[in-house]
Amino acid sequence: MTVDLLIRDAYLYIDRDWEVANGWLAVKDGRVHAIGDRAEDAPAAKSVISAHGRLVTPGLVNAHHHMYQNLTRAYAPVTNGTLFEWLKGLYPLWADLDAESVYLSTSVAMVELLMGGCTTSMDHMYVHPRPFLIDAQFRAARDIGFRFHATRGSMTRSVEDGGLPPASVVQDEDTILADSERLVAAFHDPTPGAMGRVALAPCSLFSVSERIMVESARLADKHDLRLHTHLAEDPDEDSYCAEIYGCTPTEYFERVGWASPRSWVAHYIYPTGDEIDRLAHAGVCTAQCPCSNMMIGGGTADAMDMRRRGMRVGLGCDGSASTDHASMWLETRMAMLLGRFRHGPHAMSARDALDMATRGGAACLGWEDEIGHLRPGACADLIIWSMSEVAAAGALSDPVEAWLRCAPAVAGTTIVNGKVLVSDGVPLLANLGDILRDHAREARRIQRLGG
Ligand SMILES: [Zn+2]
Repeated sequence: MTVDLLIRDAYLYIDRDWEVANGWLAVKDGRVHAIGDRAEDAPAAKSVISAHGRLVTPGLVNAHHHMYQNLTRAYAPVTNGTLFEWLKGLYPLWADLDAESVYLSTSVAMVELLMGGCTTSMDHMYVHPRPFLIDAQFRAARDIGFRFHATRGSMTRSVEDGGLPPASVVQDEDTILADSERLVAAFHDPTPGAMGRVALAPCSLFSVSERIMVESARLADKHDLRLHTHLAEDPDEDSYCAEIYGCTPTEYFERVGWASPRSWVAHYIYPTGDEIDRLAHAGVCTAQCPCSNMMIGGGTADAMDMRRRGMRVGLGCDGSASTDHASMWLETRMAMLLGRFRHGPHAMSARDALDMATRGGAACLGWEDEIGHLRPGACADLIIWSMSEVAAAGALSDPVEAWLRCAPAVAGTTIVNGKVLVSDGVPLLANLGDILRDHAREARRIQRLGG
């Protein structure tokens, strides 16, 4: 039998308990078909790529992001603000988002993710000043060939109702629920190997009404969907919840019916140990965003402690305006550094961080059967990593530790669904130049920089 693609001469990280030195991996029909080492004969293939001994891993899974924010990256007036100051400074700009700017920002985000080793990403799109913005995101994902787990974000509580955002970027409850149903019908593909899925994602406890939290959970049950929100990201959220709901953010999360295996939350920095135990027991997963947390300058979740308590933890790049980059390699390295900074050198290894970026992210998206590992039958989403010869010189004894400890690694080759989307570090997207030019125009418009 002839397979579609053979990757040979690779150090294969297949899964947390399976690595193969001098290995090969065969791809057929968008799936991992077979794996072998030097002693085993590789099948004939229509196309062959030599990894030249480099590390091959599953594509990293991004469990938290806001792609549209790359239109306001490093926006000078808010770079030194707290989370709430930063949000209040940017909401009025984001009110100018439209389908064109969302298509362009999603395209840029997905290409950047592919170059940083990510093959599946969610996006938390919660600003909807105009309709059909997530439709534009699915157009971008299809044009690029990216595996995309969209989330229908929402905000209902504007400044007038005691919330943070201006009225121009919030929506009424019925509009949100009807649009959620519409998007699920149009784009949610529950079948194996899907390229597009939809989850429901009210922005945060302080920006939506109780009805939206409750009805989103009901809708998720009805259509078998994932649920996502920000939770316990900032101390301001604790005071807000105490004042408005008379409880902690976690207690409110439980009260509105979200403590279920459907849910994954972003950040989860300020819960008590008992609250982590309760959500872990309920099957809730967490996406840690190390760079975003450090850039905002607040706390960070103790990811290894959460894992010990039984919670599944993935990684997200968040932003883009809060962290301004979308390299999942960088997030993975930062997660490892944070774990070791917190508890010492025995606390966390490169493999622990890689497990979070692959299996952990897939658990967040409820997609562990097919992504986040390279066992036969998995989606053929993988990365051949690249590092300069200078940076890698002398790293001879452990390819996985070297990958995360030595200087920046980028995706040399990125494969999604069996197709090569980045080759020799270059995205194979013919109109990338046009997209970047148009993105620059839209970024100037949204930042009100004129001409
Ligand atoms: Zn976020």
